[in-house]
Amino acid sequence: MLDTLPLLQEISFPEIKRKQLDVLQINLGYRCNQQCQHCHVNAGPKRTEEMSSEVLLDTLAFIEKNHIQAVDLTGGAPEMHPQFIELISSLKQLNVHIIDRCNLTILNEPGYEKLAEELADKQVEIVASLPCYMEENVDKQRGSGVFKSSIEALLKLNQLTYGQPEGNLILNLVYNPQGAVLAPAQQILETDYKKFLAEKFAIVFNQLFTITNVPVKRFGSMLMSRQEFQPYMQLLQNSHSDNNLEGLMCRYQLSVDWQGYLYDCDFNQMLGLPLTRKTAQGEETLHISNVNLSELYDKDIVVAGHCYACTAGQGSSCGGAIS
Ligand code: SF4
Ligand code: SF4
Repeated sequence: MLDTLPLLQEISFPEIKRKQLDVLQINLGYRCNQQCQHCHVNAGPKRTEEMSSEVLLDTLAFIEKNHIQAVDLTGGAPEMHPQFIELISSLKQLNVHIIDRCNLTILNEPGYEKLAEELADKQVEIVASLPCYMEENVDKQRGSGVFKSSIEALLKLNQLTYGQPEGNLILNLVYNPQGAVLAPAQQILETDYKKFLAEKFAIVFNQLFTITNVPVKRFGSMLMSRQEFQPYMQLLQNSHSDNNLEGLMCRYQLSVDWQGYLYDCDFNQMLGLPLTRKTAQGEETLHISNVNLSELYDKDIVVAGHCYACTAGQGSSCGGAIS
């Protein structure tokens, strides 16, 4: 795999500082039942990294101690973590709002037949990937048969009242561009998605989030091997808008990896750019078991060229467009 970090670090990005923590994003591990082209994690069925019981307990203790209101569970496929159901039960007991970044197809895998009901029971918000509403495009990006399986999963979620206007179970969808281009306007695309999915499959959902592909790991390596890395970086930089700086997710979120180390976001996690503190012995990597929220406030965020994916055009975050 080609490493994009040296090239990204040659590109300067405006200085930004961390604000209050609204959401803790927990990466439970890099295993996934899929192996998508645009994956910034390089996730796949053969990855073995997963959060240990000890780190899960450290993470729950951090959430309780700091009164964290919302967590965003990601991976890989976070649901493949063996203690996933236990974790969402514990989070529910702490009265935390839970977001599950779901690839949809996991809901149809053997052994996960009850997963959708469990998510509904714990009132977990689902943010589900559906990078296009055209079968051919989805299967090209995510693998053969993924579109059909995703539709089946969406119907299952709708039956559980996910995404229904009168219900309170939230189902948001995520659109990723097919390659080295920016996403279309989120609002317009949401209207198209809603119309197509309703007419063709009678599927409903709450909101569409457009997310720009970030040139790290599998996606970054693919761009480099196709000689598309430099033109894509140029496109991102040329489309930068200062208006998006205030709403960058890293200012209000924190990312914890499967080993308990902390990062400004999942992309910095994949690039190996952790949060650190200076000590008498040198520099130390911050771990969820030994960090105070107060030491993070107003601190510089670790930035490089990939950050332009978050500020290009309408901006991009795990919650979709910024402006
Ligand atoms: S993009 Fe999501 S579904 Fe696809 S391989 Fe990566 S983690 Fe899995
Ligand atoms: S990639 Fe985006 S979210 Fe991560 S540090 Fe850069 S601007 Fe912030």
